[in-house]
Amino acid sequence: MPDRVLRAISEATIDHRGPAFAALGREVLSGLQRVFQTTGPVVIYPSSATGSWEAALVNTLSPGDRVLAFEIGEFARLWSEVARRLGLDVEVVATDWRHGVDPEGVHSRLAEDRDHAIKAVLVVHNETATGVTTRVPLVRDAINRAAHPALLMVDAVSSLACIDLRHDEWGIDVTIAGSQKGLMMPPGLSFQALSAKAIAAGSAARLPRSYWAWEPMLAMNPSGYFPYTPSTNLLFGLRESLRMLHEEGLSDVFARHARLAEATRRAVQAWGLELCAARPDEFSNTVTTVLMPAGHDADALRVLILDRFNMSLGAGLGRLKGRAFRIGHLGDFGDLMLAGTLSGVEMGLAAAGVPFRKGGVAAALEFLAG
Ligand code: PLP
Repeated sequence: MPDRVLRAISEATIDHRGPAFAALGREVLSGLQRVFQTTGPVVIYPSSATGSWEAALVNTLSPGDRVLAFEIGEFARLWSEVARRLGLDVEVVATDWRHGVDPEGVHSRLAEDRDHAIKAVLVVHNETATGVTTRVPLVRDAINRAAHPALLMVDAVSSLACIDLRHDEWGIDVTIAGSQKGLMMPPGLSFQALSAKAIAAGSAARLPRSYWAWEPMLAMNPSGYFPYTPSTNLLFGLRESLRMLHEEGLSDVFARHARLAEATRRAVQAWGLELCAARPDEFSNTVTTVLMPAGHDADALRVLILDRFNMSLGAGLGRLKGRAFRIGHLGDFGDLMLAGTLSGVEMGLAAAGVPFRKGGVAAALEFLAG
């Protein structure tokens, strides 16, 4: 998180019904539209991103509606659990947790669904657990080829503002994000970009909704206000982070993440360790999930690195627990931070007695210098 954002959050809280707030509300909503690459409405909840998972479903669907989900990793699994608990009929396609959503799988399932029982397709754009990025435009194309009317819902929690995501151009109906990743903020806000089709689906949707209802949000947002008390100080931070993203330019932000991710992968390759992501065209530019050599515990390595170097690596999640660690390289992140991060991993691997080849940091630096 940048100091600029932290300082903005520490401003005195203002009256969220007063005149100064309207300008804040309008600026963050229009700044988010730029980041989502949409001209349509965006909503902001004082919640974690899990709340936005729920909001997307309850605003568009009815009890018993079928949704198609792809378990490409732990976050995809958790989202389908939310859908199941809400009383939806969730059809889950299992995967090996090393690939993104398979566009051909989407096409074949939807092409079979002649009576259009499937109402929504749930896709995690960047699976934070596995370091795999789904090729969303190909998924959109698969839905179009099947001429299927299902809504396309995309979780962009760990991709938005780091990896290109085009809500309008890619024909996404609901894009979901949170404050604590590419937007360089603390946790506590979640966001959604909405298509006209998603909003129209809301008028027939019968799942109960109150706190998450889009209608009052959409009615008030043009004025810059919210129907209930917003997280005012987090919005101060969001305004600053959106300004920073705008100053750098979104395409430069994406390029920075791509470069740092490539340097990270070169380090992993030089260490002789294996990436969880199987396909180069699905490598994540925000998080790299590294598989541990058999018989070595990723959590023991993480504990050692935290103790010795005060550096916290991401844990292996769900079925990857103990079998993988994750290197995050997103947000306010640059060459020297990555060099420090990779040095911590390389020293940690040696100290933990993990079999690996030295030279990962050197390989990354050579790439960065070039
Ligand atoms: N989706 C993805 C891809 C995530 O990485 C996360 C959290 O890391 C979530 C959803 C859930 O977000 P939250 O923990 O803010 O509810």
